[in-house]
This record gives sequence, C-alpha cells and structure tokens, in this order.
Amino acid sequence: MAWAVVAGCGVSAARAQAVTLTPAVVEAGSPELIRVEAPGATGLDGEWMGKELVFFRGKDGRAWYALAGVDVGSSTGPSTVEIHARMAGGATKDLSRAVEIEPAHYRTGTLSVEPKFVEPGPDELKVIWADEALKAQVFAHTATEPLWTGDFRAPVRAAATDSFGTRRVFNGELASIHKGMDFRAAMGTPVHAANSGVVVLARKLYYEGNCVIIDHGLGLWTLSMHLSRIDVHEGEHVTGGQLIGLSGATGRVTGPHLHWAVRWESAYLDPAKLLRLNLDAVR
Ligand SMILES: [Zn+2]
Repeated sequence: MAWAVVAGCGVSAARAQAVTLTPAVVEAGSPELIRVEAPGATGLDGEWMGKELVFFRGKDGRAWYALAGVDVGSSTGPSTVEIHARMAGGATKDLSRAVEIEPAHYRTGTLSVEPKFVEPGPDELKVIWADEALKAQVFAHTATEPLWTGDFRAPVRAAATDSFGTRRVFNGELASIHKGMDFRAAMGTPVHAANSGVVVLARKLYYEGNCVIIDHGLGLWTLSMHLSRIDVHEGEHVTGGQLIGLSGATGRVTGPHLHWAVRWESAYLDPAKLLRLNLDAVR
C-alpha cells in the first residue's frame, strides 16, 4: 500500500515537471510563461480558459513555450491548461494540468474627470464607437510567430505606480477596472518600445489620446496612451528600446502620465509582472 502511494506521487511529480507556469502563483491579471517539455513532439495544441495557446520552441531547442495570462477581471478558482502534444507517428499525448486561479488583491479608487468623458454626447459617442471598431480590427490580427526577443523593459524612465487592477469610480458614477500601469512621466518624457514588434496602431483615440499599439506576436500587444507626440507609423517594425513617442496628457486624463497596458488575446495583464519575467533564456 505504501509503495502504491509513493508510485502515485512519482507520477504526479513527473507530470508537474512537463508543464510549468511562471509565476507559479497564478492570479487574476498574471502574465504566465508556460513551459512544456515534450520530447518527441512535433507540435503542441493548447487552450486555457477559452483562449488558444500557441506554442513556439525556445532557443535551447528543447522546451516549448507560450506567453499567456489571466485577465485582470477573471473569476478565480480551478482551471485546466489543456495541452496536447502531437507525437511523431500521429499519436497525441495529453499534458493538460490543473491550475488554480488565486484572487489578486487590487485596490478601489475614485477620481474626477471632465464630465464629457463620463457622459459623452452624441458627437463624442460617434468617435468612441469608431474607435471601438478600429481597435476590434487591430486586435483581430497578430503575427503568427513571436516578434519579441528577451526581456520586456519599462517604456519610460519614470516611477511606476501600483495602480494596475484598481477598481475605479469616476465622479461617483462609472465603475471600471484599471487595466494598465501608470508611470509618473512628466510631459515630454521619451517613451520606448518595451520589446520588438510591429506598430499596428499609431493615432489619436477619444479616451486613450495619442496611442501606440505594438503587436509582439502570438496575440501579445503593448499599448502606450496619452502621448503628446507619436514618433512611429502604423506598419513600422520597431526594436526594443526604440523611441515611439513622448508622454503627455491627451485623452481621458487628470494630468500628464504614461498609461501602459499589456494585452494577451482579450486579456489585460499586469505590466509589472511581465517586466519581471526572465525571458532572456527563452528567445
Ligand atoms: Zn492609467
């Protein structure tokens, strides 16, 4: 009987090693680097909470990776990361594993903005709807391979706030979740691409102000908002650290700052956690 228990533990330990998630504690809003060891696999298919996982080979040639995450507004509790390895010869191997989504402890805040941003009139609504349609189009396409290399780096040299995930009440009326990170960047602070990618949007939007969206491939984007100046154009390939514009106070703001967001598929992730991921060894 004791032997059977030990054997059982051995099986689950081997499974746990095949698929690892970093960070290991998975919270609502966490980006997650999923690493899979699947010797002999020719490809992997995956899905997590209704989102497709697209895997690529790491630079060591051994492991497969997907850069994914859990939306900041996601419910907590058990989930299953579904992974099926396609083996040479046509067989498939189930590498799925259970992952608990832990609650993250985000704050609740209030702030006041100009009334036109809370109760937009018909003219403003037309602009907002056009922006929504444009963003939907932008997020419908992504590069079919990762365009990033190594670690993501902060877009500005300015103090970051821990405002990600804050539930906000605007003028006591409109509630929303703050889906990005605010940097206390003075007007005109240089804003850089956090990693390499393609600029898929570079224009003024109603709420976001002057906005730059970079596609880093496989459904991962970074968004820089409220810029005073845009220095890149749509379709341009950028490298990590390249100047993309200057920070400012355009759009819905209470003052100059950089709002920086990280999106994977339709999920918004904590930028601070993406910056802490060690990706230099991955690709
Ligand atoms: Zn913000």
